[in-house]
Amino acid sequence: MSQNAVPNSNSFPTGRPVVFRNATVLTIDPSLGMIESGDVLVVDNRIAEVGRQLTAPENAVEIDASGGILMPGMVDTHRHMWQTALRGFGADWTLTNYFMFYYINWGKIFRAEDIYAGNLLSAIEAVDSGVTTTVDWSHGLQTVEYADAAVDALEAVPGRFVLAYGNLLGAPWEWTKAPEFADFIRRRIDGRGDMLGMQVAFDVTGDPAFPEKGAFEVARDFNLPVTTHAGVRGATNDNGIRLMYEHGFMNPSTIYVHAATLSEDSYQRIAATGGYTSMSAESEMNAGQGYPPTWQLRRHNIPVSLSMDTSVWWSADLFSAMRATLNADRAREHLEAHKRDESVNLNHLRAEQVVMWATLGGAQALGMSNIIGSITVGKKADLVLIKNDQSPVMFPLLHPYGHVVFQAGRGDVHTVMVDGKVVKYEHRLLDIDLTRAKQAVMKTVEYAQSQMGEQAWNEAMYPEKVMIELIDNPYTYTDRERTRTRQIQGNADSSPTSL
Ligand SMILES: [Zn+2]
Repeated sequence: MSQNAVPNSNSFPTGRPVVFRNATVLTIDPSLGMIESGDVLVVDNRIAEVGRQLTAPENAVEIDASGGILMPGMVDTHRHMWQTALRGFGADWTLTNYFMFYYINWGKIFRAEDIYAGNLLSAIEAVDSGVTTTVDWSHGLQTVEYADAAVDALEAVPGRFVLAYGNLLGAPWEWTKAPEFADFIRRRIDGRGDMLGMQVAFDVTGDPAFPEKGAFEVARDFNLPVTTHAGVRGATNDNGIRLMYEHGFMNPSTIYVHAATLSEDSYQRIAATGGYTSMSAESEMNAGQGYPPTWQLRRHNIPVSLSMDTSVWWSADLFSAMRATLNADRAREHLEAHKRDESVNLNHLRAEQVVMWATLGGAQALGMSNIIGSITVGKKADLVLIKNDQSPVMFPLLHPYGHVVFQAGRGDVHTVMVDGKVVKYEHRLLDIDLTRAKQAVMKTVEYAQSQMGEQAWNEAMYPEKVMIELIDNPYTYTDRERTRTRQIQGNADSSPTSL
């Protein structure tokens, strides 16, 4: 392909094989490991060959991957995509602020078209950052029309998605039994193959009567996995896990999101029944569900997948998730050791493991590891090329797993392939209408602002400030100095709203 031509979908005509040349290939396939100066050949929508200096068919389109890292597409197992419409709004929130905003005050104002807008932007964002499979944990739905809007958006973007069908305020044992729910599965999910899957999304409150039983039964009848926020301080706890276990609803397809504030007993129930966790370390550390538990999970051999949770607060790329996960795990290991007056001399959790969690781990959690999650001959071709010749950060490339976790970022995503189709090339999305998504989201922002009014909007975005009482410092020379220090501190502490 000519160097100067602006790439578009015509650069990669349907039916022509694609060969990536000269990459550092992180296959995440245990039998292949890492291949330096490796090639990957994609024919139709599958990985046809992996190796070095492959002989490609004559008509293959060649992608120069030299200096880059080629890895499987990343998998996010828990993202509230509808909330992307208010990206960044909750940067200073706690979980309490979040619950107040969506569940008590404002979640109800969001219309089906707002779900569509948030999902559309979020889906594009996922693909753009190399997340080729995303679970849309869709708990903003109010009627089946909302779910239709959610899926309309997912289908407008060439990524792989799983709709985790939830509901904003309804009881899961009621909405799962509505005839229109069954009808929705027939209309929108059945027959979509591995491009659009479905889970049932609801939380288990711990009510001893276990009203959620009916919802679990529906999920089982439709052969759909359940995904549930478990171990979220102030919301869900060990009682929910125990009830699920006692009623026989914990199984290998169950996904436990956060799994943070849980006892050893709950972790043992999860480990024994084979379910997966979905860690959102950036979320857990900021919102307060509990400390990201990977440091505990590995003692139980509980499998881990990664997620971003929501971009109403955080970044929605898995580079951030990998980094936050590794940071949180190592920080905890050090702190636990320091409590015993010991030092950690060798880190247990390695960058390679975290890259695996972001790829194959997610695929396994979704029951899709026979299709995606590693660069293995015969699997569907979901690939990400991290390469940025203009960036000083991509050189030297010494520890490729560490490079993915600690050095690279979404701006370094050069090429993304989903199901054998190149959807991003040379840092540009191909035939994806970002303008339309921006316009839709702008309408939602304007609508939400008008519904809430300026004061409520500002108060929700900038929660009441908690003042810190400064500790007297015995080393200051005079009272005058001390007062001055306080004033400087006070000014540095001012929020934009108080100016
Ligand atoms: Zn969540």
